[in-house]
Amino acid sequence: MNKSSFDPRLAISVMSARFTGTAIRLVGKGGGTAAPGLVAERLDPGLLTKLGTQLEHGALVVAGTNGKTTTSRMIADILQANSWKVVHNRSGSNLVRGVVAAFVDQTSNGGHIRGDVGVVEADEAALPELIKRIQPRVILLNNLFRDQLDRYGELDTIAKSWAKVLQTLPAETTVIVNADDQTLVALSDDIRARRICIGLNSAEHQLESLPHAADAAVCRVCGADLGYRALYLSHLGEWYCTGCGRERPPLDFAASDIHLHGDQHTDMTITDTTGSHQVQVGVPGLYNAYNALAAAAVASVMGVAWDVISPTLAAFQSAFGRIERIAYQDKQITMALVKNPTGFNEVLRMLTAETGALAHPTMICINDLDADGRDVSWLWDVDFELLAQGDGHLYTTGIRGADMANRLKYAGVPVERIHPLTSELADAFDAFIADVPAGASAYILPSYTAMLKLRKSLADRGVVQEFWEQ
Ligand SMILES: [Zn+2]
Repeated sequence: MNKSSFDPRLAISVMSARFTGTAIRLVGKGGGTAAPGLVAERLDPGLLTKLGTQLEHGALVVAGTNGKTTTSRMIADILQANSWKVVHNRSGSNLVRGVVAAFVDQTSNGGHIRGDVGVVEADEAALPELIKRIQPRVILLNNLFRDQLDRYGELDTIAKSWAKVLQTLPAETTVIVNADDQTLVALSDDIRARRICIGLNSAEHQLESLPHAADAAVCRVCGADLGYRALYLSHLGEWYCTGCGRERPPLDFAASDIHLHGDQHTDMTITDTTGSHQVQVGVPGLYNAYNALAAAAVASVMGVAWDVISPTLAAFQSAFGRIERIAYQDKQITMALVKNPTGFNEVLRMLTAETGALAHPTMICINDLDADGRDVSWLWDVDFELLAQGDGHLYTTGIRGADMANRLKYAGVPVERIHPLTSELADAFDAFIADVPAGASAYILPSYTAMLKLRKSLADRGVVQEFWEQ
């Protein structure tokens, strides 16, 4: 569609959606992030495609089990620093209706989008539909992990649906895949679209064996065992098949010389066809090295210069709820969301990176509501054995706080370092904070609904803002 033409159907659905969002906020029913999308969808099913084609630099889509929120925020920050106006489903709804709502929010009542480029974070299951509607120029596939909810082969269903939609892409599309994930390589081996491979070459951060939580490492093509020349995180690494001889393809963007500075930041070198680039990343952990590498590759492919990419990544602050630093009284609290075994293991690696042991008081808050996963047996797939050493005391709370305390006991944490607290999060928080020495650092590791509840309780005390106000 031409920017100057007027499409009455589009304009009506945009205005109706905007009215719905305002009404929801006025009656205080929360952020109003998804319902406007539902309304707009109903009135004009072609809305997303129409708005997407107005974007001068097109749209890009980010998908993967872990890190998609952080990565898409890094990308949005870089594109913004490049003086592009970014349309982004930033407040967190990554289903089709959430993306529609975000696009509508940045569209005039006449149906003209106020942006040059779209950054779309896609839920794994919604990715094929979003690709169909948005026709993105660049697609980033970050990783595919089995999470705690996957007891019925959902991962396989998702992989098959991704493979199908990737086959439909034209040659002009660029697909950037994390080549350290063999599944993503297999899905994208025979596509018409241009494929760009990214991954780590980082001898200093190898794991000795597959962690508890990692997927069984068998070749997606022939079923034989995979071997690793280097294994970095869960099942991600420089893999090869012992049966059919598949192996990690050559990397177009490789991260090396990765230095993790505890819970503060990360330094690394990214090498592409133009040379080597020093990059500092403002967030900690090896998983954020993957996220930053992916964001840099996307931006570079879209034509952004490295002297814009590097400083933006250095200034990056983590997304709502993933890792967040909070000053409370005179204490420094780091809150890190834990939602599946792989993410939890990375957080534990981060907490113990400096000394190999847990140094600071840490509260783990585990709920088992629908959004957390009803079944907490996934806690047995987390390497809590990492916490057995050190002086840091461990506090447990949430609906399943008692299960958590029990798990720590089995992991070999001495009982005098384990403190089960009340399951009431706000009361547990007060008891925990009272035990943290003045001026000290502390960690809180909540499951998803526990994080929302804690944040709400902190917001009521005026400590952090509700997320849609940011
Ligand atoms: Zn094989």
